Amino acid sequence: MSEPWSKLRDVDLLADGRAEFAIDIPLASFPRLTPKLARAEGSARGTLRFTREFGFAVADVALDALLELVCQRCLGPMDWPVAARTRVALLADPDTADRVPEEIETMHAPAGRTRLLDIVEEELLLSLPVVALHERGACDPPEHEMPEPEEREAQQDVQRPFERLGELLKRDQ
Ligand SMILES: [Zn+2]
Repeated sequence: MSEPWSKLRDVDLLADGRAEFAIDIPLASFPRLTPKLARAEGSARGTLRFTREFGFAVADVALDALLELVCQRCLGPMDWPVAARTRVALLADPDTADRVPEEIETMHAPAGRTRLLDIVEEELLLSLPVVALHERGACDPPEHEMPEPEEREAQQDVQRPFERLGELLKRDQ
């Protein structure tokens, strides 16, 4: 693949070069996201700006996308607009997550490298609801049984591997 967003990049070079990218990535390009979508059509658009903050390489992320999820009650399609504006510290060493200020998310960048695609996919995954459900009464046909609460939590853990990484590491120390 030769798309600029699929290239593996050095996060320190991005941060120190204050790199900026306008991105428009087809939703079908995200391997972890697409299984959660009713249809992988459209794209995620926005900007990624890299800076150094508190000594960390940080991506300032602005994203817009319209995802189509599967309602877990009626199994019908459900629009899920995403408008994310976040900052993510890209950590070569996940053990440094506890030094990142709380308002900045953390993401592991193995060997100090990442792809723009990975950052965007992580943000899209974090934007997903715990359980996708139409508003009450909007299902068609109405009423399927809901999964048990334990099941739902298990699903959430699978969906959000990095969100909890910093939290877990902090707890360990
Ligand atoms: Zn529904």
